[in-house]
Amino acid sequence: MINWYKKNKRDLPWRKNVTSKDYAYRVLISEFMLQQTTVSTVIPYFNKFIKKWPSIKKLSKANLDEVLLSWQGLGYYTRAKNLLKTSNFVCNQYNAIVPSSLKKLKELPGIGDYSAAAIRSIGYNKKAVAVDGNVKRVIARYYGLKGTSKDNSEIINQIASRICPDRSNRVYTQAIMELGAIICKPRKYNCKKCCLKKNCLSYKQNIVHLIPSKKIKLYKEKLNCISFLILDQNKSVLMKKRKDTKLLANQWELPSTNWVKKPPKFSKIYTPFPKSNWKNTNFRLKHIFSHLELENAVYISEKKIGEVSKNFKDSEWIDNCNIKKIVVTTMTKKILKKFNLVQT
Ligand code: SF4
Repeated sequence: MINWYKKNKRDLPWRKNVTSKDYAYRVLISEFMLQQTTVSTVIPYFNKFIKKWPSIKKLSKANLDEVLLSWQGLGYYTRAKNLLKTSNFVCNQYNAIVPSSLKKLKELPGIGDYSAAAIRSIGYNKKAVAVDGNVKRVIARYYGLKGTSKDNSEIINQIASRICPDRSNRVYTQAIMELGAIICKPRKYNCKKCCLKKNCLSYKQNIVHLIPSKKIKLYKEKLNCISFLILDQNKSVLMKKRKDTKLLANQWELPSTNWVKKPPKFSKIYTPFPKSNWKNTNFRLKHIFSHLELENAVYISEKKIGEVSKNFKDSEWIDNCNIKKIVVTTMTKKILKKFNLVQT
């Protein structure tokens, strides 16, 4: 597997500069970005991020809005907040050196068992058992473990610990992950080209397609809201910043009703101007979160700046050309795009 990896590994930006003093920081950034996000999506973000903040010291001096703006489009913004907190913690407590101990790594905001092990192993070439989704799938198939990854998590972790080498841990960790990512893929697996096929139980028993078993899909709550698209004559948009809540914290969005189970009736909701000032766009935006589906109706109104400010006290007019300089929720961005108020 190691030889296969050395010949076939992808040329990924976080695998470069292994000897630099900031290598563990690069690994840390990549691990934050790769949580829930594909490699191809992460690459341009990683490159831009590292260019802007090449060291953890520089990152620790950034403000949250700047970091969120660089994160815009990657989703799961809590990661960006935790990354900034982690950089501050590392600078204050560890003299700007990313720790290599699992215990210290796991104390950092946003770093769990897997990320801590990956940073120690890849960043420092020290022994650590990093078990991500790719590793779980390779082990489950190689050992012919039927059932879901969750059902088998204990045995997979035991096997992963047993086969983890004491030396050259960096290469091993990346090799098994790479094999899962490009050969032993969830659906389009390529056993014929796999360096493990000789002893792989699933391959020998022709049960690769059954492992791991599919998870039962979780029910997603369905919610509804109405958003208010208020423009002035220069196409400035009235927007408000979300509070520091769990979901979409600190991002800008259009003023909206609460998210509720039944679609709110426009005739029954409070609007700060007479109902006759609004036009139903008949546009319904469906947005899917990991745990819920939101259907967003949009009403539009054109107003002069002075007419509105007193009614939407916690909102601000954002000049059309400044929208790209702030972090906007994906839903609001889709609405603005629909009405030709932003380019991308
Ligand atoms: S032989 Fe097939 S199932 Fe087995 S590890 Fe390789 S790709 Fe996965």
